[in-house]
Amino acid sequence: KMEERKGSPDWSEFINPVLKSLPPSGIRRFFDLVSEMKDVVSLGVGEPDFVTPRNIIDACVRSLDNGQTGYTSNQGMLELREAIAEEINGSYGVKYDPVSEILITVGVSEALDLAMRALISPGDEVLIPEPTYVSYIPCAALAYAKTVPLKTNMDKLFRVTAEQVEKAITPRTKILLLAYPNNPTGAVMTRQELLDICEVVKAHNLIVISDEIYEHLTYIEPHTCVSSLPGMKERTILLSGFSKSYAMTGWRAGYACGNPDFIGAMTKIHQYSMLCAPTQAQVCALEALRSGKPDMRRMTAEYNKRRKLVVDAMEEIGLPCFEPGGAFYAFPDITKTRMNAAEFSERLLMEEKVAVVDGTAFGEAGEGHVRISYAYSVEKLTEAFRRMNRFVKRYSS
Ligand code: PLP
Repeated sequence: KMEERKGSPDWSEFINPVLKSLPPSGIRRFFDLVSEMKDVVSLGVGEPDFVTPRNIIDACVRSLDNGQTGYTSNQGMLELREAIAEEINGSYGVKYDPVSEILITVGVSEALDLAMRALISPGDEVLIPEPTYVSYIPCAALAYAKTVPLKTNMDKLFRVTAEQVEKAITPRTKILLLAYPNNPTGAVMTRQELLDICEVVKAHNLIVISDEIYEHLTYIEPHTCVSSLPGMKERTILLSGFSKSYAMTGWRAGYACGNPDFIGAMTKIHQYSMLCAPTQAQVCALEALRSGKPDMRRMTAEYNKRRKLVVDAMEEIGLPCFEPGGAFYAFPDITKTRMNAAEFSERLLMEEKVAVVDGTAFGEAGEGHVRISYAYSVEKLTEAFRRMNRFVKRYSS
């Protein structure tokens, strides 16, 4: 056996160098640690704590009883695409053709990967506001893009500005990624701020990939859909899905909307790599659009209640935290404890058994902050904040 190994090549050298250059996910390592511990109150995971609403599950069971177990068309069930088109038109007044402008994907995750691979030529630059959701940089890098961070901070409510975008543009800039309501900060953008950014985007002929997976989870102002802004529909790939709004993370259903060239190119990759999104996920997505609104409203109201609880708790604990306008995250500033974000989250876990995510897991701009997910019950949140209060007091005296 040893002899054989000696003659073997170093298999790690066969791995795509882009993969090697990506840092390992800090979140994974941290949660491996959490899973080995007892009595941890975790506010770590960005996933609804609700089960998928009953009527959606029933639709799945019915489809199975009816023997609906085969593939759908590559682009996804036409009925579902039609329902999505109707929904977007109803909410934002944007008309997408269900035949040529909508693709059903395996979650927003697949849509994001497809959008990057369909558009990027090696060396193209993608502008990504930071702190950023963990998948954007790897997806862009694996499509051989150069990623350019646009750093945001709490003073600016974690909003990216038109000036920042303008300044970062080079002849190689192709894509601006926008993701509001935002993971990990909970930031939202005003319509006017988005309009200003869109002027820059149009002037420089950029494309926007807009991840609007949290579109229904807004608490202060109604959501602005980027493709609804003047002149933006043709140059935006709108991504959204069912994971968060309908508590359907495990089903894997999302979609992309865009001009026929973009959606056609994405479908070409999707038809070879994925064939179609899971059939039952599509059945459930359709049911969600048809009858899931009351449940969605109920869950959103519950998140809003918890959001207020988090904001009040941070004030009481004494950690500066801007009021998140959307999604289900808060991103408090922990610098008064004189720890960096990694130290804070590790010690909080070890000493008080509370898990939050180190802000630098979302890029350098997350230093000095931790992400709290409030997709947890009021009881869990209350207990976690009781422990956090004790912890912060200990380190900021
Ligand atoms: N986009 C953002 C901003 C997210 O926070 C997440 C999940 O955490 C996703 C996309 C992934 O969504 P999906 O389950 O639809 O793949």
